[in-house]
Amino acid sequence: MEMDELYTELILEHNQDKRNKRLLENPTIDEHGHNPSCGDDLTLQLTLDGVLIRDAAYTGQGCAISQASASMMIDLVKGKTVEEALRYVELFLGMIKREITEEEELEALEDAMALQNISRMPARVKCAVLAWHTLRAALKER
Ligand code: ZN
Repeated sequence: MEMDELYTELILEHNQDKRNKRLLENPTIDEHGHNPSCGDDLTLQLTLDGVLIRDAAYTGQGCAISQASASMMIDLVKGKTVEEALRYVELFLGMIKREITEEEELEALEDAMALQNISRMPARVKCAVLAWHTLRAALKER
């Protein structure tokens, strides 16, 4: 399988898999994000335990890329600290802006690395970064 195909599969998988698309019972933070250029709309919820992200989930509507990106991000940051999560956000945004291209460094992003090629599709970049900008806003306001 070609790398691009593998990545497309991962995006479709995350888009279909709704395990991260749910409402949390007692979230510590609710943060809304909107991408008017595509119509993507999402609400990110986090349950914090001190500096630990104990649980995370999203709800909302949007294209496959925005939803898959949110799901990949949640898999990555759940169980991590706020500081670690913010580092992942910077790494992801750096990848999308092509400022960070080192494979070894990007591997830390796990499935979200599948979105690397989105940087070649400027119209979709805002879809891919929506969840990550929303997470950063949520954590900085805490
Ligand atoms: Zn979109």
